[in-house]
Amino acid sequence: MPFSHVMNTYARLPVAFTHGQGTWLFDEAGKRYLDALAGIAVSTLGHNHPRLVEAISWQAGRLLHTSNLYRIPLQEELAVRLAGISGMDEVFFCNSGLEANETAIKLARYYGHKKKGVELPSIIVMEHAFHGRSLATLSASANRKAQAGFEPLVPGFVRVPYRDMEAVHQIASRSRDVVAVMLEVLQGEGGVNVVSDEYLRGLRTLCDERGWLLVVDEVQCGTGRTGNWFAWQNAGVKPDIMTLAKGLASGVPIGACLTSGLAAGLFQPGNHGSTFGGNPLACAAALTTLDVIAEEGLMDNAVRIGGAIRAGFKKALEGVAGVTDIRGRGLMIGIELDRPCGELLARSLDAGLLISQCPSAINVIRLLPALIFSDSDVKALIEGLAPLISEFLSQ
Ligand SMILES: *Cc1c(COP(=O)(O)O)cnc(C)c1O
Repeated sequence: MPFSHVMNTYARLPVAFTHGQGTWLFDEAGKRYLDALAGIAVSTLGHNHPRLVEAISWQAGRLLHTSNLYRIPLQEELAVRLAGISGMDEVFFCNSGLEANETAIKLARYYGHKKKGVELPSIIVMEHAFHGRSLATLSASANRKAQAGFEPLVPGFVRVPYRDMEAVHQIASRSRDVVAVMLEVLQGEGGVNVVSDEYLRGLRTLCDERGWLLVVDEVQCGTGRTGNWFAWQNAGVKPDIMTLAKGLASGVPIGACLTSGLAAGLFQPGNHGSTFGGNPLACAAALTTLDVIAEEGLMDNAVRIGGAIRAGFKKALEGVAGVTDIRGRGLMIGIELDRPCGELLARSLDAGLLISQCPSAINVIRLLPALIFSDSDVKALIEGLAPLISEFLSQ
């Protein structure tokens, strides 16, 4: 690569897109690509959704930004909306997933200090977890490679294997400083790993017994992607803190940290803040995203289309040596191979398909299409990608 003034933080694929339409993106040469990644679970409504374009354009012409020093009616409306679909009580708005998680971590510590009299509160976190790239969220994440060189990490996290209830019980029996358990209900970066409803209910029960906060990171799996508004709703438990970002405003930066129960009412003026968080433009985009998901039945679509994608790949890859698992929920799908699949990304790009690889499970192909993905998109995806996988594995 020639020298670039853009800092070298991404090993970018050699393509640049000029515009998009629905589930398709177009590059500078006019070639089109089926987008099965949606900007890493961000473009919930696909590209150029007419209602989103209209809402953003209208809002941009009226008011972009004021300040959290004043009331922001659209933010209040979005908070009501999010509380309504989640049953949570309060929302803090920010601009990204890591900021939402940073808020959750601060809340959990504050809860420990103020409500439990714990001087050095610690939070149980999971192996293969990803919560962001700030120092605290990087420390809560499990990717050693991403942490290397940035020590000292932030203390106050205890790590347990994902889906291992016994390990959590062991920590409960020996530690007095734990104030919260934090996890992704469906791990994204860590390999598209799904927890059982039973495990989640077990955590809820333990948190209730111990007075711990249950913190769920729904940054990637939330906002309708798994067939409910939020993935924890499948298990019928409610967290004390939930974080959102990625798909919430379908491409306009936004993050949110929601609280209920023991975690509600903790922060007062001066405890936390954000200059941009919840500005009118981002809130208009999020409100429209939520409206369209509900009105166009996109959660049902996520379940149906997600099922069709998994079934389609299972059929197309049946008997192909090297495919070890096809899993996921709704439109969060992993195809696990017996080897790193990085090379497939470039080959798929050549074939006009946008897919990704789980950053800390590099043998897992990850599909995160927009919630508007259609039956014909499924057909194109499977017919395009399955042969590439078979060919890759036969080498
Ligand atoms: C992407 C992601 C984050 C971080 O979000 P950013 O907006 O990149 O800071 C946090 N948690 C999960 C589960 C994610 O997938």
